[in-house]
Amino acid sequence: MKSIPYGRQNITKEDIEAVVNTLTSDYLTQGPKILEFEQEFAKYIGCEYAVAVSNGTAALHLCTLALDVKDGDKVITTPITFAASANCVRYVGGEVVFSDIDPETYLLDIDKVRALLEASPKGAYKGIIPVDFAGHAVNLQEFRALADEFDLWIIEDACHAPGGSFVDSNGDKQNCGNGKLADLAIFSFHPVKHIACGEGGMITTNDKSLYQKLLQLRTHGITKDENLYSNSIEFAGGDESYPSWYMEMQALGYNYRLTDFQAALGISQLTRAELGIERRREIAKIYNESFKDKSFIKGQSGIVEGHAYHLYIVEVEDRLGLYNFLRENRVFAQIHYIPCHLMPYYRQFGWKDGDMPLAENYYKHCLSLPMYPTLSEEEQNLVIDLIDRFYEK
Ligand SMILES: *Cc1c(COP(=O)(O)O)cnc(C)c1O
Repeated sequence: MKSIPYGRQNITKEDIEAVVNTLTSDYLTQGPKILEFEQEFAKYIGCEYAVAVSNGTAALHLCTLALDVKDGDKVITTPITFAASANCVRYVGGEVVFSDIDPETYLLDIDKVRALLEASPKGAYKGIIPVDFAGHAVNLQEFRALADEFDLWIIEDACHAPGGSFVDSNGDKQNCGNGKLADLAIFSFHPVKHIACGEGGMITTNDKSLYQKLLQLRTHGITKDENLYSNSIEFAGGDESYPSWYMEMQALGYNYRLTDFQAALGISQLTRAELGIERRREIAKIYNESFKDKSFIKGQSGIVEGHAYHLYIVEVEDRLGLYNFLRENRVFAQIHYIPCHLMPYYRQFGWKDGDMPLAENYYKHCLSLPMYPTLSEEEQNLVIDLIDRFYEK
């Protein structure tokens, strides 16, 4: 019997053709597909600028660099996320301050963030990294207002939510990563995410100066824009103007580039992104209907407007029993996430059991069920039947 994972990529004939065409073109990296992917992605999300990078973690790292996060700078994030959302603060020497979740939405609870900010003198914190966890868009209108009050920047970790949105208090739809509310937003193109490049990431923003910084930092801190040069034309070896070989390394950057063939795959995948979300929403509806009167379901992702459903989560009793029973039947549900503050790495900074009671309680019960566009109706029904069978015995 075929196994059913919690998430998986969908590679079509068109995707393969797009990659092969790029492999036989003049450019394997830093060619025309990168800019095309960035422009198409920016259009899809509705932001001004997009910077393609090698993965979502590199995207986060470049964001903390571009925002100039330094030794000891305090940044707030959620414990229920992939470790990279927090690690990017550590890469540049900052201090991660975890704040507990809202047990209904599983997202960073803004009231707790406010309480944290109000408990310290203004200026104690530099930024917030909210996560559109599972595909549920954070209300960034509220976070923006709070951030402005305390002079903070926002990096939106939108890895789970390309195509997700929320409706703001003016009735306007705000797409995740659209650049209107967060300073920077990041996405990942890992195979379990909505758009697969193998590895890959994107940063979106409406801030031109951050955009220019990110472009430099992505490739060694090098610029070829002569308006930005600081060495003289004479030094560069030119006469009237800078010679065309000339470039300057102006900051300590990295090689976080995406390849052209990955970008070609991303462009091709992006054309089906909307269909993928529609399918994910259908799957979510069926789970929601099936579970709504079941007493063994203690909480679930539910039906939320604008939800991008990277994950469909249920909270259950005897989670280990259900997890193992599903595995025995080749259904590979998963846990998202082990609370980040209790990872051994973060415990060394003093984080301990009981610090984030709601996140820790959530972790005891959560289970991510199979959720991906090519999950068939039969497969989903099998998953639902297995869950019923497990609790009825
Ligand atoms: C996947 C993911 C990342 C990291 O992305 P990679 O491309 O795997 O480096 C960061 N944050 C969240 C919430 C993610 O799900």
